[in-house]
Amino acid sequence: MGGGRVIRVHRRDLPSPDGCRWCGDDPGHHGSQWVASAGLHTWEAPTPQQRLMRMKARRAARQAGAATKDAAPRPARD
Ligand SMILES: [Zn+2]
Repeated sequence: MGGGRVIRVHRRDLPSPDGCRWCGDDPGHHGSQWVASAGLHTWEAPTPQQRLMRMKARRAARQAGAATKDAAPRPARD
C-alpha cells in the first residue's frame, strides 16, 4: 500500500460535506452500497479533511455557476 489512493465518487453532483467518506451519499439514504475503493459498506463519516474539501468544492462550483450566470447575456426585452 502507500500508492496513490483514489477516492471514487459515483455521484454526478458534488457530494454534501456530510456525505459518506467512500461514496459521498447522504446518511439518510445510504443503506449498503458497493464502490470499487471500499467494497460493500454502510455510511461512514467523512474525514475532517474530506468535509473541508467538499465544502470548498461546493463553494467553488457555486461561484463558478454565479460567474457563468453573470457573464451570460441578458435576454433582450422591450
Ligand atoms: Zn458510502
